[in-house]
Amino acid sequence: MSRFWSSVVHNLSPYVPGEQPKIDGLIKLNTNENPYPPSPRALAAIAATADRLRLYPDPRATALREAIATRYGVTSDEVFVGNGSDEVLAHSFPALLKHDAPLLFPDITYSFYPVYCRLYGARYELVPLDAAMRIDLADYRRPGSAILLCNPNAPTGVALPRAAIEALVVEHPDRLVVVDEAYVDFGAESAVPLVARHDNLLVIQTLSKSRALAGLRVGFAIGQRPLIEALERVKDSFNSYPLDCFAIAGAVAAIEDDGWFDETRQRIVSSREALVRGLSALGFEVLPSLANFVFARHGGHRGADLAAKLRERGVLVRHFQKPRIEDFLRITVGTDDECGRLIELLRDMV
Ligand SMILES: *Cc1c(COP(=O)(O)O)cnc(C)c1O
Repeated sequence: MSRFWSSVVHNLSPYVPGEQPKIDGLIKLNTNENPYPPSPRALAAIAATADRLRLYPDPRATALREAIATRYGVTSDEVFVGNGSDEVLAHSFPALLKHDAPLLFPDITYSFYPVYCRLYGARYELVPLDAAMRIDLADYRRPGSAILLCNPNAPTGVALPRAAIEALVVEHPDRLVVVDEAYVDFGAESAVPLVARHDNLLVIQTLSKSRALAGLRVGFAIGQRPLIEALERVKDSFNSYPLDCFAIAGAVAAIEDDGWFDETRQRIVSSREALVRGLSALGFEVLPSLANFVFARHGGHRGADLAAKLRERGVLVRHFQKPRIEDFLRITVGTDDECGRLIELLRDMV
C-alpha cells in the first residue's frame, strides 16, 4: 500500500491465477491447459514471422478475423479479437455490461467476472446455481441489465444446450447475453450459430484451451456488428495493437488446422471419459462435464487435504477455498498417462 495509490486500486481484489511452478516432472492438472503441443502449422507460422518484428502488427488483425469468420460462418466485421479472451471479456464490461441495473451471473463461475466488475465499477448480482450445481434459467427472471454465462460453466464443467441459450436470449430481448465459451470445443454446443438471429447475444472464445495456445494470448468475440463496434471503441481507447505479429500468424494457422483440432479434442474427450470412470470407481461424485476438466468431490475427504497431498506427490490440481465448492477438486484432463498417475495416487489416499 502507498499514499500514491488511487481509490480504484485500494478497492481492487485481483484474480489469482492457478500456479505455474517450475518444478521438473510435475504433472500440471490445475489450469486447464491442453496436454498436447499446438498445431505444427501454427508453430511454423510463428517461426516464419520473425522478419516482421521491426514493423507494428496490423491493428485490426484482419487476417485473423477473416480466418475466424470463415471457420465460424460469420463475416469478419462480426469478429473482435483480443489478447486472450480475458482481454475480450475485460473490454466487454465498459463497452456493454456496465449499466444502472446489475449484471447477473452465477455464484459459482469464472472468478474473474467479479474482479472486472470492481475494476470497471459495474454493479452485479450473483444468481446461485441450483443444488445440482446447474444454471437454472428461470432464476434469471429478476431485475438486471445483462446476463453473463460461462458455457460449459467453470469450474463445474456443466453445460447448457444451445436451445437453452436461445430460449434465454428470446426471453430477455432487452438484455445482452454474453456467453463465455472457453471450453465449448470439448463437446458442448456453441451459441455462435444463434448470432445471426439475435442482436442481444455475444459469444466469446479462446485459443488457449482447445487450440493449445495459452502462451500466445488470443481470444475472440462473435456478435452482430453494433456489439463488435462497442468492443472496438474500447480497444482503440486502450491499446491499438493488442495482438502481436506472432499471435496473429500463429492463430490464423491454428484456426485453419482442422485436422489437428479434431484429433486432439477427440483424444481429450476420451481421456475425460476414462478419468470420470476412474474417479467414480474410487467413490468420487463427479459433475457431468463437457469441458477439458472435471469437478469432483469425495464424501470422506476434504478437498484442501486431497489437493495438498497430491501436490506433495507431484500432481497439481485446482482447489477453491470458497463456500459451496470447498470440497471439490477441479482436475484438468491431461494425457492418459497423467490421468492414470492421478488415479493411482488417489487410490492410495481415499
Ligand atoms: C481460461 C479461461 C478464459 C481465458 O482464457 P484466455 O487465456 O485469456 O483466452 C476465459 N474464461 C474462462 C471461463 C476460462 O476458463
